[in-house]
Amino acid sequence: MVLAVDIGGTNFSLALVSGDGKMQKRVTRSTDRTGGAGWMIANILKDSRGLAESNDVTACGISFGGPVNFEAQSIINSTHVAGWDDVMLPKIFKYELGIPAVVDNDANMGALGEFVYGAGKGFRNLVYYNIGTGIGGGIIINKEIYRGSDGNAGELGHVPILPNGPLCDCGNRGCLEALCSGTAIGRRAEEAVSSQPKRGKVIRKSRFGDITAKGVFDAARKGDRLALELVDEICVYLGMGVATSMNAFAPDGIVIGGSVCKAGTVLLRPLREQADRFLMPVHRPHLKVLLAKLGGKSGIMGAAALAMGLKT
Ligand SMILES: [Zn+2]
Repeated sequence: MVLAVDIGGTNFSLALVSGDGKMQKRVTRSTDRTGGAGWMIANILKDSRGLAESNDVTACGISFGGPVNFEAQSIINSTHVAGWDDVMLPKIFKYELGIPAVVDNDANMGALGEFVYGAGKGFRNLVYYNIGTGIGGGIIINKEIYRGSDGNAGELGHVPILPNGPLCDCGNRGCLEALCSGTAIGRRAEEAVSSQPKRGKVIRKSRFGDITAKGVFDAARKGDRLALELVDEICVYLGMGVATSMNAFAPDGIVIGGSVCKAGTVLLRPLREQADRFLMPVHRPHLKVLLAKLGGKSGIMGAAALAMGLKT
């Protein structure tokens, strides 16, 4: 049995996963951001101790929602919660609980989770997009996570798409993330309804506060013309990103995860069409764009898979 931990900006989850990939128990808690990393680590350890003591846990895998130095096994920082700079969380686990632990970023963990247990089962090569607040990416080549020479490969959300496009968190303009993340979709919709006051009735109805990506996809499903136009526009950019990955890596499949994948067919159909349009003809017959199968559990199941590979 392994312990899998998923640390995000708003909550964290722990799960016990058996060797056959079955999740036995799961605990999810909201993060008290004011307590910073110290509060989170204390509470994660407390819950982990409880789960590890009453079960035969041999290793722990941690998925972290932020950059991780995999080689050094340390968390680089968190944009959501203060105090995570240079934290060697696996070392703390080993010291406090006496079990070996391993950490990686949530996009790599999502890719691994889908590869081992989800939509990419049986693949050799896979490219994974985690589309939520931002866009994360994970690349699996020959059944292993591809990390690149500096450990930071897989930043598929920062593939440049539109010169002079909207500003991205990374400092550049027109990255895929700045155009198609959940946050960007909401922002584009806000701009569209304010500049076209007579259109987008269904999108407007869906709003409680800001317009969300979910509001846009729900409205598109109901046939709202403005929402459909927005989805088409998003899929042009996402299709460029997907075609770039397909042309570069020719994976067995490209898996779309994260909260935006809940949109389902209303996203997938135009995305496949657009990706196909930008592809080199030689890749066209092999294009497979799939939605993540594990939903919100991709990352935690990837962490479990990584822990299972640890030598105890
Ligand atoms: Zn960027």
